[in-house]
Amino acid sequence: MTTVLQRLCDICNKATGVYDCQECQRTFCRKHVVEHNLELSKEMDNVVNHHDLLRQQLSEQETVSSQHPLMKEINNWEQLSVEKIREMAEKARRDLNRLLTDHKESITKKLEEISCQLKTTKEADDYSEKDLSEWLQMLEKLKKQLLTPSNVILRTVSDEIWLQPIVVMATSLNSRDKFDKASNNIRILENGFVAEDNGTYSHGEVRGFKTYSTGTYKINSKIEEMTSNNWMFWGII
Ligand SMILES: [Zn+2]
Ligand SMILES: [Zn+2]
Repeated sequence: MTTVLQRLCDICNKATGVYDCQECQRTFCRKHVVEHNLELSKEMDNVVNHHDLLRQQLSEQETVSSQHPLMKEINNWEQLSVEKIREMAEKARRDLNRLLTDHKESITKKLEEISCQLKTTKEADDYSEKDLSEWLQMLEKLKKQLLTPSNVILRTVSDEIWLQPIVVMATSLNSRDKFDKASNNIRILENGFVAEDNGTYSHGEVRGFKTYSTGTYKINSKIEEMTSNNWMFWGII
């Protein structure tokens, strides 16, 4: 006896006008192949919806980034730094003002002395050509001092850390590390995720693949088997 395997619709078990879906390998009748196609287009809508939702969440996150606690910290740092700069500029202005005032006062004082001498000698009509040229020289000197105060300079102090720069760094809390270099008595298995000591030597050493400098990292590990009277050390070198 021979049995003929009849291809039937997956849904209604009818054999009329069957179609095979090349993708899901299911068989459908004329009616249900239409439904199957409808299902697919519904699924497509579902995918589009998921996509749109994710896009929306992403754009919302962009707008709330200003609310991030670190953003607040950066703003605070900016405010404090600007205040520090303002205070320092204010102090520098005050210092310069004081120095310029002192300078002006000392010139005024010297000029007053000359005024006094000029007045008395003029009144007494008692002065020589030498006196005249000396006064002229002194006045010229004072004028120069008034225009270019040579005793004031501005200097930037580079060795003083009063303004601390900040940088934003990404840190990974779940870094997947694996075993890399090992001593001869240790076998590294399963793509670096298992290290096995064959027990032929008193101690073995195995290192991680990644290198770390700064940041916080979480490395998961598990001790599956350990013989008694042994110890293990985990550390950073
Ligand atoms: Zn299909
Ligand atoms: Zn059917």
